[in-house]
Amino acid sequence: MSTLPVHLHFIGHRRLPSASGETIPVIDPSDGQPYAAIARGTAAEVDLAVQAARRAFDEGAWGRMPAVERGRVLARACALVQEHADELAQIESRDCGKPLTQARNDVTAIARYFEFYAGAADKVGGQVLPYLPGYAVLADREPHGVTGHIIPWNYPLQIFGRSVGAALAAGNACVVKPAEDACLSLLRVAELLAEAGLPEGALNIVTGLGSEAGAALAAHPGLDHISFTGSPATGTRVAQAAAEHHVPVTLELGGKSPQVVFDDADLDAAVPVIVNAVVQNAGQTCSAGSRLLVQRGVHDALMERLAAAFAALRVGPAGADLACGPLIRASQLARVRQMVQEAREAGIAVAAEGRIEPDAPAGGYYFAPTLLRDVPPGHRIAQEEVFGPVLAAMPFADEAEAVALANGTRFGLVAGVWTRDGSRALRVARRMRCGQVFVNNYGAAGGVELPFGGVKSSGHGREKGIEGLLSFTRIKTIAIKHD
Ligand code: NAD
Repeated sequence: MSTLPVHLHFIGHRRLPSASGETIPVIDPSDGQPYAAIARGTAAEVDLAVQAARRAFDEGAWGRMPAVERGRVLARACALVQEHADELAQIESRDCGKPLTQARNDVTAIARYFEFYAGAADKVGGQVLPYLPGYAVLADREPHGVTGHIIPWNYPLQIFGRSVGAALAAGNACVVKPAEDACLSLLRVAELLAEAGLPEGALNIVTGLGSEAGAALAAHPGLDHISFTGSPATGTRVAQAAAEHHVPVTLELGGKSPQVVFDDADLDAAVPVIVNAVVQNAGQTCSAGSRLLVQRGVHDALMERLAAAFAALRVGPAGADLACGPLIRASQLARVRQMVQEAREAGIAVAAEGRIEPDAPAGGYYFAPTLLRDVPPGHRIAQEEVFGPVLAAMPFADEAEAVALANGTRFGLVAGVWTRDGSRALRVARRMRCGQVFVNNYGAAGGVELPFGGVKSSGHGREKGIEGLLSFTRIKTIAIKHD
């Protein structure tokens, strides 16, 4: 019989097992060994959680709590997260295989989301609209009600912060289905939110498989909104299930984001940012800068510098805190290996590779960062998300070709533009078909304040910033005839 500690669901402020009693092992990606288990939720637990959220919203203390008090709960939660920063970083690092420094950054980010949305909670209001004489018309802004949040394993803390933080600030009661591969940090954050004064039922977490608990949540008729972050294929399924009940959906999906480097770029500034944008979190980042488009005049010089930087990258267990940790699971490692192997077989040149530490545990899911050059733009490795530390570089001749290549995938999440020519920077940024463009930087160090989201297969709707808070509200029009 297994003696692994079991982490239970968080429903109505209580830690509950699944009715079935079943669990799922939690694997440490750094050595491939199980070290804990989570409850395997099904439709039964999802239903309990939605009911708890509904009660909290319709009848409970949460539904009656003034906006300023909701903000104070989040502010206290921010302080508690900061107080427990080390504990949360250790949990996230082991669960996701994230180098410790990167896990610490994620804790800083969730605290910042709570801080931002704490301050914003009582600043969201509606409008009084001009209308016919004798009428007063209010465009009232109200929370949706019960919101569902399906979260992936690559940045559990950050994505919870931006999605659930905003939904709670707006007054919704939330049901969260985190990813089966990494959810331990969120169960701990739920406890901290309860300690911060969040009333019972305002937040509920059901753990389990996507095909069971996730599918049950997406299809639940008791939801008023769903925020999904994950792969495009699952996003389609979630949107289809939600459509059965006409539930609005925000989809934050994948990307194949380009970094476009013009001849006049500052290479000293660009090189470390380009490397980090595809190596951070072992490349398992939706907004990873995984395509590099380089103007011919600077192509060879940049590739030489990048090759040196890639060759210097070290990969090892999360606790070793190197540039790159393991991938999340064995199947992800197999997928990344296969995509790079296919590219090699197609004659695509490997310009450089990092190194896996010789003493990294044999069972860990390690992949050495790989720089590919002269990649044909139509090849799968230049078109599909690898979700590993693999950069596909290709040359371009002029601005028109750069824009065509940058927009030439089914995705449109983020783009980077490197140039000293201000007019060109703005012109190219405006032509990018995506949700965020960074000029002479990439990612803006997280940017909690900055609306984020995609176009095309990268999804629709925006999270983060005030825009993200508004997306967890809806307008109700109240027309009053007073004369
Ligand atoms: P995934 O789609 O497999 O899983 C995401 C979540 O959906 C998990 O909680 C999973 O359990 C759940 N799920 C799986 N099948 C489901 C179903 N049938 N119904 C309902 N829920 C289901 O994605 P992943 O592999 O965990 O995450 C990687 C993907 O997420 C990448 O494509 C990445 O680009 C994307 N991502 C996007 C953003 C963004 O903000 N745009 C952020 C992070 C990750």
